[in-house]
Amino acid sequence: RIISAATTTQQEETFNLSLRPESLHDYVGQPKLVEKLSITLAAVKQRKEPMEHVLLHGPPGLGKTTLAHIIANEMDTHVTVTAGPALTKPGDLVGILTKLQPHDVLFVDEIHRLQISLEEYLYSAMEDFKIDVQIDQGMHAKTITLPIKPFTLIGATTRAGMISGPMRSRFGITHNLEFYSESDLLAILTRSARLMNLIPSNSDLESIGDTSNLSSDILNALCAIASRSRGTPRIANRLLRRVRDFTQVKAGGELTPAVVDAALSLEGIDSLGIDDLDRKYMQVIADVYDGGPVGLEAIAATLGEDAGTLEEVVEPYLLQIGFLARTRKGRQLTTAAAQHLGLRISTSQNP
Ligand code: ADP
Repeated sequence: RIISAATTTQQEETFNLSLRPESLHDYVGQPKLVEKLSITLAAVKQRKEPMEHVLLHGPPGLGKTTLAHIIANEMDTHVTVTAGPALTKPGDLVGILTKLQPHDVLFVDEIHRLQISLEEYLYSAMEDFKIDVQIDQGMHAKTITLPIKPFTLIGATTRAGMISGPMRSRFGITHNLEFYSESDLLAILTRSARLMNLIPSNSDLESIGDTSNLSSDILNALCAIASRSRGTPRIANRLLRRVRDFTQVKAGGELTPAVVDAALSLEGIDSLGIDDLDRKYMQVIADVYDGGPVGLEAIAATLGEDAGTLEEVVEPYLLQIGFLARTRKGRQLTTAAAQHLGLRISTSQNP
């Protein structure tokens, strides 16, 4: 699914790497977070301390991994990337922790999926920079304490509610990443298009994402991609990649709004960034459940999709654009959604 920010291929990761901003200065949007981080980074660097532990939550593709890399760059250290489900036994975590160098960054994606027994190791590593490891069993069992170099843990989660209280309290900075505005996405797309040599660049630019000297065709084309990107930089870059291929092969290299329309219609993405899975999801609520309210499990069963996937990759955007309401009785389609899709729902019940 082109519009899901949750899954990526190896090829896309390589592509993402080439577009990833390397400093806070190049990180677009999220102004409050950027300010908090830059103040703390400056302070800890002056004191020659490691950066505070940071917990980031928000939907996939909003720049959490990118921030971990940026923090390591700003601290002039390295980042080790892992994920909650990849750590299955204490040895996995102990191996990673004991290899860290002073002030290194350890990025743990999907930290809410870390096993509870491993969480305990992380607590003492985060707080006291040491871990107690049990060796041998039975009569010969003993515990040895291993020192860890002072490091920074950056935890990322798509489900803030699933982080335990003790875990949450060990982070110095906690921040919820917001969906990006269209003007921020436009700056990200302009920067990416220049890095991909799709649009011209020159040395007079204030920054590589500067939109002030774009031709109106290019500006409108990039705006058309931004409005279909669901507030998500990863999706913006992915759509840009599709548009680049189409522009090259079908449009003689001329990037225009009409070319964007043609390229993205081919992918089944409409003017608001709604794709086939969103449409099917909303159609089920309208046709089978008369617009709702209906429980997520029932929708998932009717669609033959996983409820967690729907909750993580379909619903956040529909909630954000006001197409879906979450009530105590379940999910409800709004009249705005019904109008956009030409669906019939009982308007007396729906917001
Ligand atoms: P997450 O870890 O939240 O899933 P990533 O950090 O992998 O998201 O971001 C996906 C891609 O989006 C990155 O490769 C990067 O190119 C781009 N990106 C994300 N946030 C920003 C930003 N604030 N400014 C510029 N590009 C960004």
